[in-house]
Amino acid sequence: MNIKIADLTFEPLIAADAIQARIKEIAADLNKDYADKAPVFVGVLNGCFMFMADLLKEITVPCEVAFTKLSSYHGGVSSTRRIRDDFDLMTDITNRHVILVEDIVDTGNTLDYLVAKLNHRKPASITVCALLLKPDAVEYAVEELKHVAFQIPNEFVVGYGLDYMEMGRNLNGIYKRVV
Ligand code: 5GP
Ligand code: MG
Ligand code: MG
Repeated sequence: MNIKIADLTFEPLIAADAIQARIKEIAADLNKDYADKAPVFVGVLNGCFMFMADLLKEITVPCEVAFTKLSSYHGGVSSTRRIRDDFDLMTDITNRHVILVEDIVDTGNTLDYLVAKLNHRKPASITVCALLLKPDAVEYAVEELKHVAFQIPNEFVVGYGLDYMEMGRNLNGIYKRVV
């Protein structure tokens, strides 16, 4: 069913059960790769909150959970390239294995910035896990991006943590803008 948020209409793109199935696969890989590494999962707010929660419910290895907050879209439907550092990661990641959890990689600008910033703190490793990737929009290739749940067309999406004008984050599936 289509939904309306403010002036835009959205149609279903990825169903809730498909998201949950992919999360189980990614978690299985991470459980294998991080068995004795006590990783720190770092969620990038606000968009990561649902993905982070559902992913972590499937993680069985000892781990820490932390958050940071960045924003770049500022209410619109395309990247502004101006990254705002809303709050910093407070956990000491020196010599720790970090798993960054992102909602979506669009141009890659935000991720490129965040990975460079965290690398200054000398972690043992950084791996990025993103729910969505828009391959046709990528301008900054981030080599740390190892796990992607879904590749999607270069269109504006909402739901499952992602917003339009701060609305739609509560939807349990992903919806794309009808153009
Ligand atoms: P990038 O820096 O990779 O261009 O953009 C990353 C950030 O822009 C994401 O973390 C997300 O907050 C926002 N963003 C990118 N594409 C979309 C989209 O299709 N829908 C929504 N709601 N936000 C997006
Ligand atoms: Mg994000
Ligand atoms: Mg947003």
